[in-house]
Amino acid sequence: MVVSIISIGQELLLGDTINTNASWMGRLLSEHGMKMRKVLTIGDDAQMINRALDQTLKTSELVLMTGGLGPTHDDITKTTLAEYFGVEFVRHQPSFDHIKEIFERRGMNFSVSNHSQSDVLSNAEVLFNKTGTAPGMWIEFKGRILVVLPGVPREMKYLMNHEVMPRLLVKNGHNAGYFSKYLQVVGIGESNLSDLVIGDTSTFTGENVSLAYLPHTHGITLRISSYAKDAKTAEKQAQPLINHISTTAREYIFADEADIMLETAVVRLLASQGKKVASAESCSGGQLSHLITNVSGSSDVFDCGIISYANDIKKNLLGVLEADLIEHGAVSKPVALQMAKAVAKLSGADFGLSTTGIAGPTGGTAEKPVGTVWIGFWSETEHFAVKTQLYTDRLINKERSAIIALDLLRRSLSGITTLPYDLQKQMK
Ligand code: ATP
Ligand code: MG
Repeated sequence: MVVSIISIGQELLLGDTINTNASWMGRLLSEHGMKMRKVLTIGDDAQMINRALDQTLKTSELVLMTGGLGPTHDDITKTTLAEYFGVEFVRHQPSFDHIKEIFERRGMNFSVSNHSQSDVLSNAEVLFNKTGTAPGMWIEFKGRILVVLPGVPREMKYLMNHEVMPRLLVKNGHNAGYFSKYLQVVGIGESNLSDLVIGDTSTFTGENVSLAYLPHTHGITLRISSYAKDAKTAEKQAQPLINHISTTAREYIFADEADIMLETAVVRLLASQGKKVASAESCSGGQLSHLITNVSGSSDVFDCGIISYANDIKKNLLGVLEADLIEHGAVSKPVALQMAKAVAKLSGADFGLSTTGIAGPTGGTAEKPVGTVWIGFWSETEHFAVKTQLYTDRLINKERSAIIALDLLRRSLSGITTLPYDLQKQMK
C-alpha cells in the first residue's frame, strides 16, 4: 500500500512545533511493509489543504491527515474536507456524549462551539477518540482511503494503534487484533544494544510482529507490536520476542510499560526496599534532585539534595578535603567520592550520589575536556566513582549526569554488579 501524510498546522511551518506525528506514523507504517511516498506539511489554509488532497490522493492509496480538528477558528480541516467531498456534517452521538462528559468532569462550560467537535462528515466512518475531544474519520473515496486524525500526538497515536492499524491490516488481508509492549532501556546506545546485546531478531519478527528502537535523551524505548486475529493471539505471538529481549537485555531494562521514566523506576525500587537516597550535585546543578522529586511519593525516599556548586561549599558543607581540591581539582575521583559519602552521612540516607564535571561549553582543558564528569556512589557496602566523557552541550550534560547517577543506583538496588555498558567502555 502506498501512503502519504498531510500534516496541517501553522505552528509546524513556523517551527514552533516539531512534526513528530509524521515521523512516528512513517515509522509505524513502514514497519508494517507500507510504502511511504510523501509527507506534506501545510498551514491551516483551505486552498493548501485542497491542493494537498488532490496531489496525494492521485499518487497514494492511503492518505493520513493530522491537525486542525479542534473547535477554534483556525481549525478549518473539517469544513474544508466537507466542501472538498461535497458532503454535510452529521452529529456523532457517542462522541457528543463523550465530549460532554469530559467537559462536565472538568467543570467546564460545554458551549455550542464545542458541540461541533462531535460533528463528522456524512461520508466518514467515525474513529472514536477515547483519549480526547476530536473524533477521527475514515473516508473511502474513489478507491482511496483518507484518514483524518487530531493533531495532539497522544490522541493520534491512540487512534493509529487502536482504530487505524487494525482496519488497514484487514484491508491488506491481515488480522485485526493488536498488542503492544514497551520496554524501557538505559545505559547503552541503540546500535550496541541491537548488535551486541539483543542480536538478530529476525526469527521472532515478521509481517505480524515488529520491533522498533525509539531513542530519546534518557535512553531507549523498545516497542514490540503484534497483530493477529484477536488481541489475545497477538499477545501470545509477541511473547517469544519479548522473552528474548527481556533475557538478553535484562540488566538494561528498567520498566516494561510505556511512559515510565527512570526516576520513577528508581523511586519505586527505593520505596519497595524502604531505602533513602541523598544527592550532592555540582555539574548537574540540581537536575538529579529535580528528577527524583518529579516523582509522586519521592518524599518517602528522598530527604536531602545539596547543590554544592562552589569549592567552598564542597569544603565547608560536605567536608571535601582542601588538599584534594587543590591537588586533583573539583572534577576528580576523590572529590566525587567524598561528596557522595558526605551527603549520605549528613542526611542519614542509605545511598549518596554525587556529580562533579565540566558541563561546558567553556571551561574545558586538554586533561579535562568539556563533558568530563565524575559520578560518585556511596552505600554501606559500596563506595566508588566513575568517570564518563559526555558531550559539548551544557543542558544535555546536566541531564545525562543525573541519568547516569540514577542508573548506578537502579543497578545497585536491583543487585546488578556490573557497570552500564557505556561506562565500562569508557573506564577501560
Ligand atoms: P484538538 O481538537 O485536540 O485541538 P486538533 O486536531 O485541532 O485537535 P491541533 O490544534 O492541530 O489539533 O494541534 C493540537 C496540538 O498538537 C498542538 O499543540 C499542536 O502543536 C500539536 N500538533 C499538531 N500537529 C502536530 C504534528 N504533526 N506533530 C506534533 N505535534 C503536533
Ligand atoms: Mg486544535
